Amino acid sequence: MNIAIDGPAGAGKSTIARLAAKELGFIYVDTGAMYRAIALYLLDSKTDIEDKSAMQQALNNININIVYDKGVQHVFLNLQDVSAEIRSEKVGNMASKTSAKKEVRDKLLYLQRDIAKNNDVIMDGRDIGTNILPDAELKIYLTASADVRAKRRYDELRNSGEWPDLEKIKNDIIKRDEQDMNRDIAPLKQAEDAVLLDSSDLSIEEVVDRIVSLAKAVQ
Ligand code: C5P
Repeated sequence: MNIAIDGPAGAGKSTIARLAAKELGFIYVDTGAMYRAIALYLLDSKTDIEDKSAMQQALNNININIVYDKGVQHVFLNLQDVSAEIRSEKVGNMASKTSAKKEVRDKLLYLQRDIAKNNDVIMDGRDIGTNILPDAELKIYLTASADVRAKRRYDELRNSGEWPDLEKIKNDIIKRDEQDMNRDIAPLKQAEDAVLLDSSDLSIEEVVDRIVSLAKAVQ
């Protein structure tokens, strides 16, 4: 069984998907982490992302592997575990820019479909219900107001030891939404058959319960 969860940055997708996956005994697949790993490589290698041949060459040098250890996803970039390094705002913002490129999306499409084909998954991202898993048994579009999302991202970064600026985070989130929703390829949008959940005024547990009961209803 496949469950797709899409929505804008900071809507709580990863926290909620992780908990729901645990309850259902599914594998949680964080596709944003894969885009982030590619972005990290492009940043470190100082690749000119507007130069098509430089991009192609960089992508040829990138090997992404996903490994599950006690249910936790680890992303390996060229055999190095970059799961922690990719969480920064800098990498997230770069991922939003580079994920608009067709060659980047093509590189991850089959990797994502392959994981879903071989496992019961809850996969979160931007285009899972619309593009990667159009036949997913359950699709959720999880959103929240920009203020709530900015505050959540701020708390997440604080917990990982950074000292972020809330106003800047909010502006970055709005910019990221714009980029993700208005790109030509696989833009972020609610799939026609997705259930809309606004988590602004709901607790994490309430959203998880809702998703778990929707999943059990179609299982
Ligand atoms: O969800 P997360 O913030 O980790 O995603 C980082 C960026 O990766 C997003 O802003 C988006 O541009 C891109 N992404 C995407 N498609 C996905 C998952 C993430 O374009 N399925």
